[in-house]
Amino acid sequence: MHELIILGSGCAGNTAAVYAARANLKPIVVSGHEPGGQLSITSMVENFPGFPEGIQGPDLVENIKKQAEHFGAEYLHGTVTEADLSKRPFRVSVDGEWYETRALIVATGASARWLNLPNEQKLIGHGVSSCATCDGFFYRGRKIIVIGGGDTAMEEASFLTRFGEQVTLIHRREEFRASKIMQERVQKNPKIRVLTSTVVEDVYDVSQNLVTGVKLKNVRTGQVWEEPVDGFFVAIGHIPNTGPFRGQIELDEEGYVVSKGGARTSVTGVFHAGDVQDRVYKQAVTAAAAGCMAALEAEKFLEAEAQAH
Ligand code: NAP
Repeated sequence: MHELIILGSGCAGNTAAVYAARANLKPIVVSGHEPGGQLSITSMVENFPGFPEGIQGPDLVENIKKQAEHFGAEYLHGTVTEADLSKRPFRVSVDGEWYETRALIVATGASARWLNLPNEQKLIGHGVSSCATCDGFFYRGRKIIVIGGGDTAMEEASFLTRFGEQVTLIHRREEFRASKIMQERVQKNPKIRVLTSTVVEDVYDVSQNLVTGVKLKNVRTGQVWEEPVDGFFVAIGHIPNTGPFRGQIELDEEGYVVSKGGARTSVTGVFHAGDVQDRVYKQAVTAAAAGCMAALEAEKFLEAEAQAH
């Protein structure tokens, strides 16, 4: 029986582990299917406070993990496949093995939705990105493509015009899902070129380990062509990693955890941290802060429980 299990080893889960370990809760951290979370697939992080020269995303998240281990957090490789949160102690299955815990922090994050192109995954961090705020700065004066037709794509395309020489927004349909105001902002921006009814067939060039171009197709005319590009930003939404908690803690229509104030979820003793609940900010620093909040609340909860018995 554990005091606290933390699900997820991104910025949120690892920071929760630092706080919980320093509070002597001996937390168990379940790494998840993407250990290190989204930071592990970015390159330089220049907006995390405290690093004037910037820090590589994988180093940042690994450092927080080391910090947590230093205070006694234990990491468990694996992914939560099932959970029983209907009664206490809570039970979670990590790849088939069941663990019991008095309190639980869900920091399983949200995974970027990708296009699943043949070369896309191989070029992540080398020109392919799912985060304009994180990586836009590296494309100063370069050619950028943004994929998507929702608010995120509009926001990222507008944001990226601060850096890119030209930003091309590519959307698979004629109509946009984005709000009118965001669409107008894009349409009025002279640095943004919009290509509708267009899909990406592939991104190059794996042999150079760098994005150099894309193959596009107009789905109405059937025309296929190639274009040179330096930055390839996929903004087609995120998928919160909440499958095992469906029907157990309250989730919204897209599967994000619904916050009940602070770090509380609909189940007493189960707390949320990071992108699994946050569909707005999605930053390393906000995830870290959320991890801190969840650990402090878990600590308070466990203390109250101990006093009650
Ligand atoms: P979204 O609204 O679900 O839009 C995703 C877009 O990606 C859609 O246009 C969709 O095309 C496209 N897409 C999905 N799969 C694709 C594929 N395989 N190939 C090509 N295109 C694909 O996601 P989001 O833009 O990330 O927004 C998520 C939520 O956050 C929304 O509620 C949004 O309003 C909100 N948000 C708000 C703001 C703001 O207000 N400032 C900023 C960002 C996000 P189809 O349209 O053809 O399906």
